[in-house]
Amino acid sequence: MKFCFTVDWEDWYHGLRLPLEETKKFERRIKIGHYILMNLLSKHNIKATFFLLGEMMEEFPELVQEIKDEGHELACHTYSHPFMIEITKEQFQSEIKYCKELIKPFQDSYEGFRAPYFSINDTNLWALDVLKEEGFIYDSSIFPGNTFRSGITGFQKEIHTLPNGMLEFPISNFKLAVLDFGVGGAYFRTLPYKYFKYRLQNILKQRPGVFYFHPWEFDHKQPYIKGVNQRAVHTHYHNLHKTEEKIKRLFTDFEFSPLKEILFENNPIPQKSILSPA
Ligand SMILES: [Zn+2]
Repeated sequence: MKFCFTVDWEDWYHGLRLPLEETKKFERRIKIGHYILMNLLSKHNIKATFFLLGEMMEEFPELVQEIKDEGHELACHTYSHPFMIEITKEQFQSEIKYCKELIKPFQDSYEGFRAPYFSINDTNLWALDVLKEEGFIYDSSIFPGNTFRSGITGFQKEIHTLPNGMLEFPISNFKLAVLDFGVGGAYFRTLPYKYFKYRLQNILKQRPGVFYFHPWEFDHKQPYIKGVNQRAVHTHYHNLHKTEEKIKRLFTDFEFSPLKEILFENNPIPQKSILSPA
């Protein structure tokens, strides 16, 4: 059993839920974390899955080309990073259609999707049907439990086929006291590495896992924005200075594959486009 290493490829301000207009003037810092990450992946010979944010693809196509040239999987993370519980089906559809245009210089289309903030829950499952209509093969957005923003309590934790025929690779998590801890992001930065490692080993005894990460988690000098949701601020900025050391240990202790490969290995009904070469 393995983990897949997944990167929600976006800049430092995208996780703060600020209006798009406000963020237009912000300094672009994605290259700082991007290059630390690319070097570490290469050094450890790890191929990952990058869920690309359209807005960043548009500004930095040369970085997307680098990701592709290194042999990583390219997947979709919407265009503008909306909190999907607050947008309409039509808005989502137009984001996805635009992203499909942006990926064309790099590959024919997308197979995989991840929602910002894991924000597909039981109020907007129509999003999965939009993805199916737009030709996606799999989704990896649903958090089987509660986060302070989203999640579906009781949702199946194993890779499975959704009612519409797409595959779902749910976000890996574990229970700690009354909280559901996701595998990656702020949860990884907050808990001691040895404890996190022990919980990851336990997950792998049951099923393959998905680890999620963002390039900005290496950027401990990113600007501090006052006045946004205090909880989001805490999770966003906590322990950024420790990320690099922890990721190095993680890459030494575990084996990783792109998400698509793990899906293919474990999917009892392999689908044509998963079998086809990337
Ligand atoms: Zn994101």
